[in-house]
Amino acid sequence: MTQDSQTKIAKVFCIANQKGGVGKTTTAINLAAALVMQRQRVLLIDLDPQGNATMGSGVDKNTENANLYHVLIGEADIAQARVKSPTGQYDVLPANRELSGAEIDLVQMDDREQQLKNAIQTVISEYDFILIDCPPTLSLLTLNGLAGAHGVIIPMQCEYFALEGLSDLVNTIKRVHRNINPDLQLIGLLRVMFDSRVTLQQQVSAQIERHFGDKVFKAVVPRNVRLAEAPSHGMPGTVYDKSSRGAKAYIEFAKELVKRVKQDAKNKTVQNEPSHT
Ligand code: ATP
Ligand code: MG
Repeated sequence: MTQDSQTKIAKVFCIANQKGGVGKTTTAINLAAALVMQRQRVLLIDLDPQGNATMGSGVDKNTENANLYHVLIGEADIAQARVKSPTGQYDVLPANRELSGAEIDLVQMDDREQQLKNAIQTVISEYDFILIDCPPTLSLLTLNGLAGAHGVIIPMQCEYFALEGLSDLVNTIKRVHRNINPDLQLIGLLRVMFDSRVTLQQQVSAQIERHFGDKVFKAVVPRNVRLAEAPSHGMPGTVYDKSSRGAKAYIEFAKELVKRVKQDAKNKTVQNEPSHT
């Protein structure tokens, strides 16, 4: 039996891409809310000092309450700092600008890249999915995310330099896998802000499929203004307008991800079963 089937623990996934503005936070928020619709228990960790995932979940980032910064420096537990998104109905571990100071505190610690992982272990059996919204850097914060995760989901736009930009991230994932976290896998690539009328986007999309094969999610998120409007209302797009094309795509993505995780668990169980011959 695998460890997962003995005590069910959350799948921990980073939403990462070192490029800025590619749709990481939009993916984290909408995936979290769409997974809740699939009756999954979800914690969204905001690992970005911009605090966009916090605000976009309808949670005020500028309160006196504990947040991820306090968790990383050991002043609070996740159980104390998390709050429920009033709109998305998932739990949020909030962040704000204080988090940028964590880099300096972390550098002085032993196990500096393991702090988030250690904190996650205290709540990992309470969730089905823990999603980490990474900042657009390959910093010590992002390293904490990668060190604490089972896998990485990469949202990407189908632009001319998309594949070149990916190689840095894929190499970082390989390095973390080798040196810090042997559990870490590339879960998949999600095409976002897709405009099927643009020939170049179709071509790049086809190129990504050729290059990454079944690591490319079938769900494709279109460019959709409702997804862009939702954060200013503190809502996931899937709640703000669940019949919009953007919301429907994220709901499809959540279903695909749940299916993929179940299938992976089944494959692992089969591999680990003792042979009868
Ligand atoms: P950062 O690197 O700064 O953290 P990010 O990768 O998290 O950025 P988002 O904040 O999710 O990117 O998205 C960047 C902008 O694009 C936002 O204004 C967001 O509302 C918009 N956006 C994201 N996805 C879509 C979409 N599918 N359709 C239309 N607009 C979108
Ligand atoms: Mg972001």
